[in-house]
Amino acid sequence: MMPRGMLHLPKPVSAGIILSYKCSSTCKHCMYACSPKWRADWPTERSIELILRKLASSIKPSPKGCENVSLNHGLHFTGGEPFLNFQLLLKAVMIADELRIPSIFVETNCFWCVDDEQVREKFTALKQAGLKGILVSVNPFILEQVPFERTQRAIKIGREIFGGNTMIYQETYYHRFKSLRISDTLTLDQYLERDAWALRFSELLPMGRACYRLKHFFAKYPAKAFFDESCISELTRSWHVHVDNYFNYVAGYCGGISLGDARDLDALTSGVDLQDKPVLNSLVESLGRLYEFAVREFNYREREEGYVSKCHLCVDIRRHIVEQTDEFKELQPRELYFNLE
Ligand code: SF4
Ligand code: SF4
Repeated sequence: MMPRGMLHLPKPVSAGIILSYKCSSTCKHCMYACSPKWRADWPTERSIELILRKLASSIKPSPKGCENVSLNHGLHFTGGEPFLNFQLLLKAVMIADELRIPSIFVETNCFWCVDDEQVREKFTALKQAGLKGILVSVNPFILEQVPFERTQRAIKIGREIFGGNTMIYQETYYHRFKSLRISDTLTLDQYLERDAWALRFSELLPMGRACYRLKHFFAKYPAKAFFDESCISELTRSWHVHVDNYFNYVAGYCGGISLGDARDLDALTSGVDLQDKPVLNSLVESLGRLYEFAVREFNYREREEGYVSKCHLCVDIRRHIVEQTDEFKELQPRELYFNLE
């Protein structure tokens, strides 16, 4: 039994490596507040190897087997946009393959897919390095900056090279865009004029930048509506965790919260000490506890227009704190909080 004041983290069974928060796009729904404005702090090959060695023994393959991929199994490389540093991505895949990590895939927004031959060459090189599949992001937020022809090119050539291991997230949008004969880019408003109900049929998580840039699509609630909620299950889940380029171990989609240094994964999975992490400690208990702490210690004021989700209340409080102090080691990377809007 874990002593009081410690958070028990299971060993991760599936994980993503955030190679950098730098992206070619600034999507309105981005959970990690990525954008071209971030510093390109790519990790060294040595650091990637160090992290992958830590993860290798616990990562589980796709239910369809090691040579196949699925969204919440195996290991993926992500960002930001990993193809902004193709050579590093290639090397990272080689290292993961040498370590026999199963079901490796890479996620892309396809901004770079301007030419068939170049896409074929890159996918072939990645496959030869040990990559098992790709995940192509398709949604109206990426469509604002990436022409749909590039997405279609990635999917067509991805299927030639990776066959059924070409995942599309979200498929609904891919089919809608095709049936609407969309070409080039469209602003979100232009797209919604042509497909007014689209957002109702898709997954849109009210986290990260979406809490600010897409708040008009959600109902809003006062802070107290979320006070009784705890985040212990999100913070301790074993699947689809992330390790970023600064070695932060990030639970699932909780961008900006570091559970600790992933180089010391063995220590983390023996228990995260909450005594010196008051923000994390509050979140384990309840959102109400976090709110009280922020009001008492940092003069946080409730937003009059309300909050779209508990994650909105959480990230708004965290941003307020980060703007005033750098004393909380669990609030990393700090730059994320300055790229939310
Ligand atoms: S959602 Fe993906 S493509 Fe869009 S800004 Fe974030 S990382 Fe980049
Ligand atoms: S409220 Fe905060 S800690 Fe909880 S799931 Fe949302 S982002 Fe993560």
